[in-house]
Amino acid sequence: MKKSVAIYPGSFDPPTNGHLDLIARGSKIFDELVVAILRNPEKEALFTLGERRRMLQALTEPFGNVRVDTFEGLLVDYARGQGASAVLRGIRAISDYEYELQMALMNRKLAPQLETVFMMPAEAYSYLSSRLVKEIARLGGSTTGLLPELVERRLREKMAKEPHMFRLNQDAHREEINSAPPPAIPAGRTNGAKRGGQRAWRDDRRAEARRALGSTTKKK
Ligand code: ADP
Repeated sequence: MKKSVAIYPGSFDPPTNGHLDLIARGSKIFDELVVAILRNPEKEALFTLGERRRMLQALTEPFGNVRVDTFEGLLVDYARGQGASAVLRGIRAISDYEYELQMALMNRKLAPQLETVFMMPAEAYSYLSSRLVKEIARLGGSTTGLLPELVERRLREKMAKEPHMFRLNQDAHREEINSAPPPAIPAGRTNGAKRGGQRAWRDDRRAEARRALGSTTKKK
């Protein structure tokens, strides 16, 4: 019988317990699962491609049918080259749905025989993303339970050896919040306008970010 091969693509910067949860689920339903790290020169990553590859290799070693690779360019071309019949993606919340649907349908147009398979992680990881983990680390919060132990260690090492990687991005994030355009205030909603439109909106975004990150840092 033909072997089923699936590709699990992503940035994995860094790999989280959510990624591992999905790898474990995928490895049960496919004969072979290829964890494929996207080589994206435009996206600045915290961990180098080599670092991410080594972490994922160590983490997936216990599974007999998972291997780690890197790719660039069109996913459908890479999948064809690997003889894959499916792409595995994770759906956490409704917010993932729209983007994932768009990607899946575009990939189907490019390669009709390639199926996208969505899986849901354990509930505990449904709010977890690499981006959020990096933000927590940057702001000095605890990442316990969110990352495999090996990744937590590598993150601590990176913070000790390359603190500039964290500072730079933190500033960039602050800049992002400060420079983001405020949305139009919906008709009939006056409380934002009372507090002064743009400023109120920014204050709200900052408060939201602090809440999401569990950060105790006070507004400057
Ligand atoms: P991207 O770079 O596309 O934002 P990642 O590299 O973080 O995504 O993740 C790759 C894949 O893993 C995506 O399908 C994403 O939905 C999925 N994923 C990421 N975090 C989780 C999680 N906590 N639970 C389930 N799936 C996840």
